[in-house]
Amino acid sequence: AQERYATIRDTPCVTEDGARIEMMMNAGLIADLPSLAGSGAEGVGLFRTELQFLTRNKVPQRGELARLYAHVMDAAKGKPVTFRTLDIGSDKVLPYMKRQDEPNPALGWRAIRVGLDKRGVMRMQLQALLRAANGRPLQVMFPFIAQMEEYLAAREHLHREIERERVMGHPLPEAIRVGAMLETPSLAFAPRRFFEEADFISIGGNDLKQFFFAADRENERVRKRYDTLNVSFLSLIEKIVARCEEAGTPVSFCGEDAGRPVEALCFAAMGLRCLSMRPASIGPVKHLLLRANLGEVRRVIEDARDEGEQTVRPAVMEYLRTR
Ligand code: PEP
Ligand code: MG
Repeated sequence: AQERYATIRDTPCVTEDGARIEMMMNAGLIADLPSLAGSGAEGVGLFRTELQFLTRNKVPQRGELARLYAHVMDAAKGKPVTFRTLDIGSDKVLPYMKRQDEPNPALGWRAIRVGLDKRGVMRMQLQALLRAANGRPLQVMFPFIAQMEEYLAAREHLHREIERERVMGHPLPEAIRVGAMLETPSLAFAPRRFFEEADFISIGGNDLKQFFFAADRENERVRKRYDTLNVSFLSLIEKIVARCEEAGTPVSFCGEDAGRPVEALCFAAMGLRCLSMRPASIGPVKHLLLRANLGEVRRVIEDARDEGEQTVRPAVMEYLRTR
């Protein structure tokens, strides 16, 4: 399948009406990195760090993680990599962590909530990332931020680790960018200051959609009831993009929907300029975006919305068919 798209692999993704869309890939293993060249991805928009924790029978050591993260950065050969700190709880349970007896784990003690309450592991991971960068630029993002204070507190921990590294005489990254994953609707309505403080924002569409529609992402029966191209969800995306633009903060989308061509097209029409997806999706998504007119798609979406449709999918599909 990758071969089919080989001719456009190294073509920058610019739509017919001149919008430049950054195409990034999601990864979680060193073994994923060869796909960077193979897919033509411009960097790793989301490196999920859970696997190294899930496949051990105890917390991995700092040195081991630092070597692994350094290896990931080496393999990226100067392309940017965004590391997401540990996102556990809910569907991802560590075998060596006492299982929490929670009635609603997806709404429970997970991700940054664990990181901020049990700081040891997060601090160790942040140290490993700083050591791995060894003077190179570093991009870190925190998962599942529901309100501004969580972002500020997590960033404060990072700053404390940076200070510690400085005192110890370790080389510091030449630049550090600290992002937040927007995965709960609440964060879209955070104070303006949040959008100004964050260095970048990445929309975690898998979780965002689950919480927006109150539909478990693991439960096929309810998950499929709600279309991503539902006008409600697209309006939320539109709002997030507007708030980021207002604050001058870069925003990307890294949920599975970024890898679905029609969804990706609509996200781009709503103003998103950076998409991160599984490597195999980059070819098909870019193929559609290269010949897309985002202004026209935007009008199709707005017309469908004005006409009172619940989802814009039929209108967009019809537009694509007759174009
Ligand atoms: C998301 O929620 O969209 C996301 C990218 O994170 P994960 O799928 O790992 O929860
Ligand atoms: Mg998520």
